[in-house]
Amino acid sequence: MYEKIVKTELGDDVKIIDLRTDTISRPTQEMREAMFVAEVGDDVYGEDPTVADLERASAELLGKEDAVFLASGTMANLIAVMVHCSHRGSEILVGDKSHIFRLEQGGAAQIAGVQCQPMKNKDDGTFSLDELREKIRKNPDIHEPISSLIVIENTHNLCGGKVLPLDWIEKVGSIGSDNNIAVHMDGARLFNAAIHLKVMPKRVVRDVDSVCFCISKGLGCPVGAVLVGNTDFITRARRIRKVLGGGWRQAGVLAAAGLVALNTMINRLRIDHEHAYRIAKAISDFKSDLIKVDLPSVQTNIVMININLPYSETRKFVMRLAEVRESDPVKVKIKIGMRQDGKGGGFVRLVTQWEVTSEDVNLAISKIGLVVEEFESRISSKL
Ligand SMILES: *Cc1c(COP(=O)(O)O)cnc(C)c1O
Repeated sequence: MYEKIVKTELGDDVKIIDLRTDTISRPTQEMREAMFVAEVGDDVYGEDPTVADLERASAELLGKEDAVFLASGTMANLIAVMVHCSHRGSEILVGDKSHIFRLEQGGAAQIAGVQCQPMKNKDDGTFSLDELREKIRKNPDIHEPISSLIVIENTHNLCGGKVLPLDWIEKVGSIGSDNNIAVHMDGARLFNAAIHLKVMPKRVVRDVDSVCFCISKGLGCPVGAVLVGNTDFITRARRIRKVLGGGWRQAGVLAAAGLVALNTMINRLRIDHEHAYRIAKAISDFKSDLIKVDLPSVQTNIVMININLPYSETRKFVMRLAEVRESDPVKVKIKIGMRQDGKGGGFVRLVTQWEVTSEDVNLAISKIGLVVEEFESRISSKL
């Protein structure tokens, strides 16, 4: 049912393995069936029983008082910022590689009127606690903004799916409470972190005031994110959701998929992690100087691959993976994402999710091997 097969220029049936991201994952059969029969009502009036079930289940799973179902992780982060920063002239303390700072159009500034105070993200997704202590404004004078929120990200997207250490989160939490500043966790891939740590999800979020997670990424749902916190926080979040145009009506159709996700898609994330690691291990075993992966840093479902060549070559590498030639022994197209690194080189990112099977992983490894070999021999013939 889910096979993606296309006809190529060669006339062959060629399989596409899409490793760009986990948001492309489509709902499972069980989700589609649950969506079909979902009981619904008008959620703006608080009358959708399936939405209420998803919110209750989410709050319980994370050991917090309440939850609100939202359209996206971006909306969840923005609402969290708006609730935590109720004074004009507020600022939030964020990692400089955080999704909130880099990839949400500066929504905190654009819509919430809140300044981002960035701190240097380390490779493991954390930042220095000393830098945090230093940047929190203790008694802001008339010139200064008011430090109102600390944001941490788990797993850390741009750091390659890294899982924040629990003892570090605990320390951030106590710095927050020492200074009377809330802590929000952007947990778009929260359950990947819990699976990696082999602890209950509520343990991962124990020391934060609010947390959001996406159901539309590795959990496979078509749409949605859930924001979780105490009752007062969620009541205010619900009000802000409405002004942002996020009040939805018979959203139980979507929440039904979310309930299936919480029940069936969390524990299996370990399979995605194994698949990502298997691909990373294979690349590392190629022992290529051109295409490298730092194996210990592959913790969850994201693999970052450094291309030790100019960026133009990275483009060629990515295009070649997505191309099938007559002479290729493996007839498969691999789609992966690429980005420029700061130094004119490139790196590519590859992400696994439930639709990527063990067989797909084998095929992807063969195809990557083929392309690496081609690049190696092309480069060495130039030398
Ligand atoms: C994907 C992502 C988001 C945003 O979620 P959307 O549902 O795509 O808006 C926020 N934070 C992190 C870390 C993410 O990876």
